[in-house]
Amino acid sequence: MYCPKCLKSIQDERVKEISDELRHTVGNRLLEQGMCPVCGTELVNTAKAADVAHGAPRGAS
Ligand SMILES: [Zn+2]
Repeated sequence: MYCPKCLKSIQDERVKEISDELRHTVGNRLLEQGMCPVCGTELVNTAKAADVAHGAPRGAS
């Protein structure tokens, strides 16, 4: 996951770990909702972006 505002990325395998920690320590649920815990901007899913770059565009309506 990547925040386009903070220019920071969070490794996908750590998102759950970090969001759990934030929820327990400061009650911050933003990351759980796919948003940057710092600025609240919607995070870009880098895994999904990579997927799109790899595969041919299919199922476009
Ligand atoms: Zn941010």
